[in-house]
Amino acid sequence: MVFFIWRKKEKFAVVDKKKQFAVIGLGRFGGSVCKELYRMGHQVLAIDIRDHKVNEFAQFSTHAVIADSTDEKALQSLGIRNFEYVIVAIGDNIQSSILTTLVLKEMKVPNVWVKAQNIYHHKVVEKIGADRIIHPEHDMGVRIAQHLTSEKIVDYIELSNEYSIVELLATNKVHNKSLIDLNIRANYGCTILAIKRGEDVNVSPMPEEVILEKDLLIVIGHKNDLKRFEDEGI
Ligand code: ADP
Repeated sequence: MVFFIWRKKEKFAVVDKKKQFAVIGLGRFGGSVCKELYRMGHQVLAIDIRDHKVNEFAQFSTHAVIADSTDEKALQSLGIRNFEYVIVAIGDNIQSSILTTLVLKEMKVPNVWVKAQNIYHHKVVEKIGADRIIHPEHDMGVRIAQHLTSEKIVDYIELSNEYSIVELLATNKVHNKSLIDLNIRANYGCTILAIKRGEDVNVSPMPEEVILEKDLLIVIGHKNDLKRFEDEGI
C-alpha cells in the first residue's frame, strides 16, 4: 500500500526527467541528502515507512510518500525505475536496506547509492550491485581528523586508498607566485584542479595563473605527495 502526499499538482509522469532523485529513508543522513538536493533545485521523491517523517519532509521534497521500500509493488507504483539516482538511506534496519537495494537493482535503476552501516553490510550491497556505498560516519571522521591535524586543509575527499582531492589554504609562502614558478606537478606530483578566490572559481587554471594568500587550491594527487606538498610546498 502506498500513500502520497502531494506538494505539487503534477504527477511523476510529467516531472522533468533530467535529474530525478529518490531518497529512501529520511533519518539524519537521508534527510540531509533530501533537503540539500531539493534546496539545489532538483526533483526529489522522499520515501519513508513512517508517516511523521513523510509529513516532516513534505516541505523539503517535490513529493513525499509513505511506502515500505522492500515492497516491490510499492516501488513499481512509484515509477522508481525512472529515477536516475536512488539513495538508500535506511540505517539500522540492514535487512530492509539490502532487500531494497536488491529490488532496485532488479528493476534496473541505473544509480543506486547505499548508506552502509558496517563492513558486512557494505560487502553484501556491493555483491548485489550497489553503484556506490557510503559510510557517512567513517568519511566524516576522516575529514574531521584531516581538519584537526592541518590548518591548511579545508576539505578532503578520499578517492581511493591511495588518491585524494584536498582543498588547501594558500599561505604567504606562495603569495604572488604563478603555477609555473611553483612547478607543483614536477616537484610534488600533484595537480591543481581549481583555484577558489572568494566566490570565483578558476577551473583548470593556466600555468601563468598567480596564487594569492588565502586562495583555496583544489589539488589532486597521491596521499604521500599531497602530504609533502602541504608540509613543504604551500
Ligand atoms: P540515520 O542513522 O541516517 O538517522 P535511521 O536508521 O535513523 O538513519 O533512519 C532510517 C530511516 O529509514 C527511518 O526514518 C526509517 O523509518 C526508514 N525506513 C526503515 N525501513 C524502511 C523501509 N522498509 N522503507 C522505507 N523507509 C524505511
